[in-house]
Amino acid sequence: MKRYSAFAIAREAFRHHSGWERAWRSPAPKSKYDVIIIGAGGHGLATAYYLGKNFGITNVAVIEKGWLGGGNTGRNTTIIRSNYLQDPSAAIYEKSRSLYETLSQDLNYNVMFSPRGVLMLAQTQHEIRGYKRTAHANALQGVPTEWIGPGRVKEICPIIELNGPRYPVLGGLFQERGGTARHDAVAWGYARACSDMGMDIIQQCEVTNIRTSGGKVVGVDTTKGAIECDKLGGIVAGNSSVLADMAGFRLPMESVALQALVSEPIKPAMDIVVMANTVHGYLSQSDKGEMVIGGGTDGYNNYTQRGSFHHIEETVRALIETFPMLSRLKMLRQWGGIVDVTGDRSPMLTKTPIEGMFMNCGWGTGGFKAIPGSGWAMAELMAKGESPLTDEFSMWRFKEGKFIDESVAAGVAH
Ligand SMILES: Cc1cc2nc3c(=O)[nH]c(=O)nc-3n(C[C@H](O)[C@H](O)[C@H](O)COP(=O)(O)OP(=O)(O)OC[C@H]3O[C@@H](n4cnc5c(N)ncnc54)[C@H](O)[C@@H]3O)c2cc1C
Repeated sequence: MKRYSAFAIAREAFRHHSGWERAWRSPAPKSKYDVIIIGAGGHGLATAYYLGKNFGITNVAVIEKGWLGGGNTGRNTTIIRSNYLQDPSAAIYEKSRSLYETLSQDLNYNVMFSPRGVLMLAQTQHEIRGYKRTAHANALQGVPTEWIGPGRVKEICPIIELNGPRYPVLGGLFQERGGTARHDAVAWGYARACSDMGMDIIQQCEVTNIRTSGGKVVGVDTTKGAIECDKLGGIVAGNSSVLADMAGFRLPMESVALQALVSEPIKPAMDIVVMANTVHGYLSQSDKGEMVIGGGTDGYNNYTQRGSFHHIEETVRALIETFPMLSRLKMLRQWGGIVDVTGDRSPMLTKTPIEGMFMNCGWGTGGFKAIPGSGWAMAELMAKGESPLTDEFSMWRFKEGKFIDESVAAGVAH
């Protein structure tokens, strides 16, 4: 694979960009792989990448029913932060955030990581208590976050209205090194690096059945034929229950639509990410100038990838009362993705009742930020059978009552 560099861009400019290679190959599937990953979203591709990079396992196929990055990875609002309450969460999310810091260099692909700062507004006394508790927990975990008052909120985000019609802004939890990255680029960068290591990324290929023998996984049936494997990773977000059903077990998880929208582009107005969880909306400005707006999940389970209309109204209302200048903007696009939500709002990176089959799911509304860390940890779990980062995230914690309650950090916030 040719490396991208300033020199390469200059050279290609002189020869009408005729020398760029395809970023990844599109091979036909082989009959057998050491590892098959189902799902070419960020988590699946990152898992494949770290299997190769950290453990030298490269006889890997990543199988995708649509196009790579076309699931939630290409539909999210790209917030990256690690200000979670519980120790296992802080460990994996901070591992992820710190990998993002150097991901562009690691992949030789610009993922446009922008650590512009993430602010979660407190608009009730309950939220003040919750966020101060998180700030103290983060201090113990070595995750730099701080509680800031309303004066500082206005200073770092001048377009905010502190005295909105329903809830005043009473302060916020601020993570200065949180931010955003370009979601497609994260998927594309990992895909390019996986392909370069000799892995096969097979798109337009749906897994329709999981083959087992004597309680052990032996392969999958797909729309491009049967493929054998020694180990299988199911990393399909909102489709995880469907996949588990194919293997004959159930997951403690629900699938719901979560939606987002963007405005017409405007001049730079805001250089941080703000989440207003009480009124239920959040906002950042993309590099193109569009205001990127996210809301809540639908109140019922579905697989529509659309999102219901009343949520658009609720989200826009929340944002207008927090940022009144938005009322004059036109909205350009709206879309939805199917998120995989667990009861304690924490993910599962887990072995399953099928030997050799692993699942990575339950990231719900907040898994984009976790892609590098989750891939790192999942690769270790699949290669070695255990990982300190995944120990607490087994699917059996729901049976054992060992919940990792992140309802403050992840219930509404993304
Ligand atoms: C509107 C919205 C906003 C969000 N905002 C944020 C945010 O700001 N910050 C944040 O951290 N997170 C956010 N998220 C959550 C984040 O997008 C997800 O947690 C993350 O992208 C999940 O990545 P993934 O790789 O697990 O899943 P996906 O990217 O969904 O990839 C799974 C892939 O599996 C494929 N697949 C499914 N079934 C099969 C099958 N049978 N065979 C083959 N392939 C299959 C799918 O086609 C899909 O491409 C948001 C999500 C949405 C929808």
